[in-house]
Amino acid sequence: MIIIGLTGGIGSGKTTIGQRFASFGVPVYIADDEAKTLMNRSKVIKRKLIALFGPLAYVDDKLNRPYLASQIFNDTSLLSKMNAIVHPKVGAHFRRWLKKQDAPYIIKEVAIIFENNLEHQYDYIISVVADKELRIERVIRRDNSSKERVESIMRNQLPDSYKIEKSDYVIYNNDLELAYFQVEEIHKEILKMAK
Ligand code: ATP
Repeated sequence: MIIIGLTGGIGSGKTTIGQRFASFGVPVYIADDEAKTLMNRSKVIKRKLIALFGPLAYVDDKLNRPYLASQIFNDTSLLSKMNAIVHPKVGAHFRRWLKKQDAPYIIKEVAIIFENNLEHQYDYIISVVADKELRIERVIRRDNSSKERVESIMRNQLPDSYKIEKSDYVIYNNDLELAYFQVEEIHKEILKMAK
């Protein structure tokens, strides 16, 4: 089975594009969503996160996301430590999920592939790109977050120019209709390769 990595900067439209692939029957695994679920469900993760962030990491047994975000915002080494706790669990969960899939190819949506040098985990990589100003506008509208916050996240991600050069496919998502057209073309190409 072909494994495709779907990546792109914040607000580029990864999830939107992933949903389009899913509408063609492609199984899509959204790593960030699974990570969030596991952070609430896994007792091991919970114990380790409380050891790292303190008792405020959970409130009423639910992950205290705003608190974690505020801690990470001031200390990026905490982000690496949190990832070291969560990523292996997501990896194991993904491998179990993969075994259950029956399709010519699957897509794993991951915000950070190139940033962590994880290209080797995929047969092909699709990057979704869009103009910075559009991405900022989208995230502000979606999350009610501030321009400064979005820009600070962007600063920790590689520029689109790097991703364009390193990807097997690039989806330009300034315009949704044009992006959907590209999804169809790429879907057909991958199906051909999978035969
Ligand atoms: P993140 O990295 O923050 O998870 P993402 O890359 O998965 O973001 P989406 O959540 O798919 O991006 O898109 C961000 C927002 O922009 C969503 O509200 C989505 O509906 C909207 N959006 C995506 N693509 C377009 C587009 N081409 N035109 C207008 N709005 C779009």
